[in-house]
Amino acid sequence: MVSRVIPAQPFDLVIFGGTGDLARRKILPALFRRFCAGQMDREARVIGAARADLDDVGYRDFARGAIAEFDVDATCAADHLDAFLSQLSYVTLDARGDEGWDALKALLDGAERIQAFYFSVGPGLFGDLATRIEAHGLTTPDTRVVVEKPFGRDLASARALNAELARHFDETQIYRIDHYLGKETVQNLMAIRFGNTLFEPLWNSQYVDHIQITVAESGGVGTRGGYYDKSGALRDMMQNHIMQLLCLTAMEPPAKYDPHAVRDEKLKVIRALAPALSSDVVRGQYEGTDTLPGYRDEVGNEGSTTESFVALKARIGNWRWAGTPFYLRTGKRLRARASEIAVVFKDAPHSIFGADAGRHCNILTIRLQPNEGIEMGVTIKEPGPGGMRLIDVPLDMTFSDALGPDANQVPDAYERLIMDVIRGDQTLFMRGDEVEAAWEWTDPIIDMWEASNADPCPYATGSSGPDDALALMHRDGRRWREIKP
Ligand code: NAD
Repeated sequence: MVSRVIPAQPFDLVIFGGTGDLARRKILPALFRRFCAGQMDREARVIGAARADLDDVGYRDFARGAIAEFDVDATCAADHLDAFLSQLSYVTLDARGDEGWDALKALLDGAERIQAFYFSVGPGLFGDLATRIEAHGLTTPDTRVVVEKPFGRDLASARALNAELARHFDETQIYRIDHYLGKETVQNLMAIRFGNTLFEPLWNSQYVDHIQITVAESGGVGTRGGYYDKSGALRDMMQNHIMQLLCLTAMEPPAKYDPHAVRDEKLKVIRALAPALSSDVVRGQYEGTDTLPGYRDEVGNEGSTTESFVALKARIGNWRWAGTPFYLRTGKRLRARASEIAVVFKDAPHSIFGADAGRHCNILTIRLQPNEGIEMGVTIKEPGPGGMRLIDVPLDMTFSDALGPDANQVPDAYERLIMDVIRGDQTLFMRGDEVEAAWEWTDPIIDMWEASNADPCPYATGSSGPDDALALMHRDGRRWREIKP
């Protein structure tokens, strides 16, 4: 199966923070893969802009190194590389001063084409960049700005960022990245729900017992310790990525697949979330092993109360979902790196097979990683002459099996999202009001923790999280799905 590639129009993409980790690991390799796929116009220009004292040649060397290291699929022929690099240039620039801005203006001036400014810098610089872009006359009606996470650390800071951006750009020009939305399976969630008649009639509290969303990582905080310790699992994963997955799972069918309709429906879900009760939220912190440091040692903060794990029960107060809880969990140093959304349907209302047949229910699992795919658990008769015994088996659709080898080359989320910016499609980006609503729901949980002064529950490296998280489900007569690779 060969996917159709529609070439993008010519564009200028300025990467502020173009020498940073994100540019190196994600943005430049993603652009190169789109170039190889024929989607980046030969007239397109990528301009790195950062404080490092580099010239075009130095930046091309930087990009060459990044691609060698992070184009892990090695899908692109080496002979494309020089052509791609020739479309890169660099400006030494200070977001907080005037150095470099005239050079950037000279580079961009006169070109009638799409202009995207990627703010791949800390949020503390968003305002400086926005102000200088406008002050130096770099904005055109075709200007787009892309902003990275974290978008604020609470409602007040998110509001301030939104207000700062709104002073210089229209909301239709702002692309807030949540790279989970660029994942192929996440978009497939919408395709499954709204492209089939099979699921939608059952997608409600009458038939769905509960939904579990898990984003589990096996690694610790690693080199991000300094940042992570100020953030924690709730801010780093729950408020944004998992909230987005919740929205796409729970939202009403939008009238059409367009930025307004989709984001309106997501916003309604967030606004319908009941405030979390303290008994419904568990936070944890991983312990060390003989060979691995515990959380506090890893971040170098002996008294840290930052959570590396959070599990919670969310309730959506609307007609579709009243009575069907959403159990959400995410954490580091767990048993495996595995992310999934599991829709657990109710048991059949009456078993004609008697008590011996046991309890069975259908579970639809959307796997985000590893092995992106969808699995539907169905109940069948256990083969053999031993009477009417039932077992659950998966109807498995691993994309790479069903769609052929091309499905193994699923584009990285950043490839999809950067091209959406160029196309001017905001559907997979968070709107300002959505981000604020998500913080509005998250802030009281943070306040609750701060007021309680309690330590997070410890959990063993390689486990499924703290015992209290297991109890959160057991209390309701349910259990978490196994975290397995
Ligand atoms: P980084 O520290 O590696 O790079 C920062 C970049 O900003 C560098 O190019 C630096 O030169 C530039 N910079 C700093 N101050 C500047 C100034 N005053 N003027 C001009 N340029 C300046 O950071 P990063 O890891 O690349 O992260 C960038 C943004 O992306 C952050 O908001 C981060 O939270 C977000 N993000 C990063 C990752 C990741 O994997 N690295 C993932 C998700 C989000």
